[in-house]
Amino acid sequence: METDYDVVIIGGGVCGCSVVFELTQRGYRCLLLEKNDTLVAEASSGNSGMLHTGFDALEKSLELDCIKRCQSRIFQLTEKLGVPVNKIGATMVAWNQEQLARFPSVVSKCAQAGFSDVHEQSVSQLYQREPYLNRRALGALWIPGEAVTDPWLLPILLAHDARQKGAQLISSAKVESCDWDGTVWNIQSTHGTFRAKCVVNCAGLYGDIIDRLAGRSQFRIKPRKGQYTIYDHSAHTLINSSIVPVPTDIGKGVIVFKSVYNNVIVGPTAENVESRQQAVIDDNICERLYSVARDTVPELNKYNIVGRYTGVRPATQYKDYVITADQDRNWVTVGGIRSTGLSGSLGISELVRELVETRIGLEPTRGQYLTVSAPNVTFTKYGTAVIDGHEYSVKHPLTFVGKMQNLSKI
Ligand SMILES: Cc1cc2nc3c(=O)[nH]c(=O)nc-3n(C[C@H](O)[C@H](O)[C@H](O)COP(=O)(O)OP(=O)(O)OC[C@H]3O[C@@H](n4cnc5c(N)ncnc54)[C@H](O)[C@@H]3O)c2cc1C
Repeated sequence: METDYDVVIIGGGVCGCSVVFELTQRGYRCLLLEKNDTLVAEASSGNSGMLHTGFDALEKSLELDCIKRCQSRIFQLTEKLGVPVNKIGATMVAWNQEQLARFPSVVSKCAQAGFSDVHEQSVSQLYQREPYLNRRALGALWIPGEAVTDPWLLPILLAHDARQKGAQLISSAKVESCDWDGTVWNIQSTHGTFRAKCVVNCAGLYGDIIDRLAGRSQFRIKPRKGQYTIYDHSAHTLINSSIVPVPTDIGKGVIVFKSVYNNVIVGPTAENVESRQQAVIDDNICERLYSVARDTVPELNKYNIVGRYTGVRPATQYKDYVITADQDRNWVTVGGIRSTGLSGSLGISELVRELVETRIGLEPTRGQYLTVSAPNVTFTKYGTAVIDGHEYSVKHPLTFVGKMQNLSKI
């Protein structure tokens, strides 16, 4: 099988789905190749489903730029597509004097980065919003812009929109080699060989391996596992915002939050691991998550745990994203999208489009098709969603538990 495309996108996680959405809208003839038998099945199926504002992102980073770009577009788009969003806000809690002492610097860093709505609150204001919180809190910061969404439906509907506009999405197509003949890429996959004028590498945990296929070596993936517990829906009255710890150099820490379907979740942890594959649930980590639950919202331990899951972040040796374009060989890399890929998705895709348009200088072969409308989505009890007649397997535990729990109530 041999076909010509403007752009081949390798990888159907949240980054690949956003990129195929964006480029197809702009008139590029796109093909997305995914090695699994379904989209959104790796890093993007193991996240928290949060749309972060970027308040704690590295100053002047690509990550912050992408999150800000995404924030300016995402809420309009989720509304058009019919993707649920809950602007729940986040409460950062100081449990000791050392954490409390860091608040002024967090607030001033936020103000410098444009988040002037992040502010300190008194303990009494804190307990007014969060009456079930452990009474040991010494202070709080209110971060109003933080939101949660359906982390599976959003990328799936982006890819689906592209499909409806003529993009091809092929699963069970593992890319095995990429050869540049001076004008065109020949992409060999387990589903056939395809020709494209430009390639966008969105291969997540395998991003460095795919870059090497094109003779590039910019970063190394250092997988970082996260683990969660999911509490029964009936616990949702125990919190009114996402309860976040004061961040450290190694990450955001374990959060107690509600999914967009109102399940209370505790996680994620952050552990460096060797394997890039789906990580196993670790009992010791479960114990740690129980103790975070108990220390944060003591009542939570009276509620049933309805599930556990893990995710693996495509971290690298760098803290920032790696998004680059090789203009001599029409290759764009979207790498190391470690812990904010959902929050940065539409910013990443916008940046990729700019690189394709200006750095690569590729003209689209079709006309623009910017209109977006809500598709017809029906979740089934078999763990799938039928979207405009196409069946997609639900791979994210938060969507699965949230929607299946609602289905069982019908
Ligand atoms: C525990 C955890 C918590 C997180 N919480 C949040 C959060 O709350 N908010 C947020 O914004 N972000 C969060 N993230 C980060 C977010 O999930 C990631 O940034 C995002 O999923 C990365 O997306 P991706 O498309 O780069 O990678 P992936 O989702 O891994 O997609 C890459 C795809 O490429 C495919 N692929 C690889 N090799 C090949 C090949 N040879 N041929 C074809 N296809 C290939 C893979 O199969 C995969 O489907 C979290 C991540 C984790 C793990």
